[in-house]
Amino acid sequence: MIQTIAGFDRMGEENAFAVLARATALSQEGRDIINLGIGQPDFRTPDHIVEAAIKALRDGHHGYTPATGLLATREAVVRRTLTTTGVEVSPESVMILPGGKPTMFAAITMFGEPGVDILYPDPGFPIYRSMIEFTGARPVPVPIREENGFAFSAAETLSLITPQTRLLILNSPANPTGGVTPRSEIEALVKGLEAHPQVAILSDEIYDTMIYDGQAHTSLLQFPEIRDRLIILNGWSKTWAMTGWRMGWSIWPNAQKSANLYDKVRKLAVNCWSCVNAPAQYAGIAAIDGPQDAVEAMMRAFDKRLQLVVEGLNALPEIHCAIPKGAFYAFPNISGTGWKAKKLASALLEDAGVALIGGPDFGVLGEGYLRLSYANSEDNIALALERMKAFLEANP
Ligand code: PLP
Repeated sequence: MIQTIAGFDRMGEENAFAVLARATALSQEGRDIINLGIGQPDFRTPDHIVEAAIKALRDGHHGYTPATGLLATREAVVRRTLTTTGVEVSPESVMILPGGKPTMFAAITMFGEPGVDILYPDPGFPIYRSMIEFTGARPVPVPIREENGFAFSAAETLSLITPQTRLLILNSPANPTGGVTPRSEIEALVKGLEAHPQVAILSDEIYDTMIYDGQAHTSLLQFPEIRDRLIILNGWSKTWAMTGWRMGWSIWPNAQKSANLYDKVRKLAVNCWSCVNAPAQYAGIAAIDGPQDAVEAMMRAFDKRLQLVVEGLNALPEIHCAIPKGAFYAFPNISGTGWKAKKLASALLEDAGVALIGGPDFGVLGEGYLRLSYANSEDNIALALERMKAFLEANP
């Protein structure tokens, strides 16, 4: 009998895609389903970005690009990084990849193997743990607690580091909680990491534009003391509503003393995908350098919806929802309802026509929570909340 490596049997999934498939199937059967499940903006990619891709195709950009990405696209990322973080990185440290996920795959497979510990947020984006399991490394959850504003606790994170720890995964603003880790906590974490020079850091900053309440994003790039062991994950998917384009970037240390990480990810690209599709890379330049009014309008819409979602959730029986500080997710605490989270998520989809995700799909500490993506219209959000209210009143 044929046999594959064990890693594939350990690999997990992202249940949001299964919920999306079920919601689509129910819609096709004629059911009226409101989708608050999938994590993608409900906006179109702004027109000038689409036009840039069409122009690139018309201009004949049909071939391979360098595996690390077009220099012009990497330079656009350098400009954007300077604007958002105040830090000037070299284009030789920027890698263009097909989405944010390939950076996760690259970083985790570079460090993970049996005998190694990798720290990741729980609740957190499910692919972190899945990829760690794939490599055979030991996944060590870093608790992300509601009472701590769904932020990383520097003290608790540092207490989990052992001599076997090789990689620490951070994510702020965060999926699924909407938590933003305050700068003071990041400073304390960076300071503590000085005692653990063997630990590399993967900072997933894909929601960096999505912060509410006028707060500024803190990028791990702003801490030169960890620069030679830091990998930044970012991309176009969320900020410019480009999830289907598969465009991401990462910033790597490129010094010899950094185990040649950049050259390793370049080699991975050569082996796996050669390069990101060329017209999308031109669109990526237009996204960064072009007008940002569509992004700002999207953010204003998310901000308004956030108020609507939080108010609506807090009006539901036995549900409490903390105000999310970033991304476009609410993570209400449903433990007072007596429902198990996954059961409630499934019942809400099947019986009330509201698709959302059970907290346990994001980790052990996700029990007692639901994740709602408010990437949907105000009318649909209001209707979903009405349906949830009616369901919970009828099924306490
Ligand atoms: N990181 C986080 C925290 C996410 O929530 C997502 C997508 O949901 C990604 C990365 C992956 O982004 P992409 O679609 O660009 O691969």
